[in-house]
Amino acid sequence: DPRLKAITAAIRVVPHFPKPGIMFNDITTLLLHPKAFKDAVEIFVERYRDMGISAVAGIEARGFIFGPSIALAIGAKFVPLRKPKKLPGEVISEAYVLEYGTDCLEMHVGAVQSGERVLVVDDLVATGGTLSAAMSLLERAGADVVECACLIGLPKFKGRCSLNGKPVHVLVEAI
Ligand code: 5GP
Repeated sequence: DPRLKAITAAIRVVPHFPKPGIMFNDITTLLLHPKAFKDAVEIFVERYRDMGISAVAGIEARGFIFGPSIALAIGAKFVPLRKPKKLPGEVISEAYVLEYGTDCLEMHVGAVQSGERVLVVDDLVATGGTLSAAMSLLERAGADVVECACLIGLPKFKGRCSLNGKPVHVLVEAI
């Protein structure tokens, strides 16, 4: 896809953020390029518009930047998967292991229906731990996870095109 070159070019790599040795892929620079930002959303929309998806679940925080635009364009609802203690209603939680320590994602009870076809959206996949937790959370609520969509795939993810038996679709591979 010829649009991917400009998308890749608009993502800034910041060395040693948030700590020494980490090369951070900064998508805020992509958001400053309306054409590249729009193209990224449109590539996802073209892929998902006819897949019978009725809910897009976005992972806090950067999944909230891409998820809602995709949801609106394909006529789906948007479900935020949030960090602990942010959602006011009754939640279900899924803890997951990070490189150092653990984290947790929460979703409102009743946000998805049993059997509902859901797309999971985040900006970047590294180990896949965050996406796995999101998928478990949704599946525990009875949802049918159709696919995970990420703008960027890190080499750590090793170009795997599935996670827990579900497809993972990545637009660009980071260096
Ligand atoms: P994983 O769970 O796959 O190891 O890490 C992915 C999660 O960490 C995503 O929610 C993503 O937003 C965040 N993340 C890790 N590294 C980066 C990075 O270099 N850039 C951005 N934008 N997010 C990152």
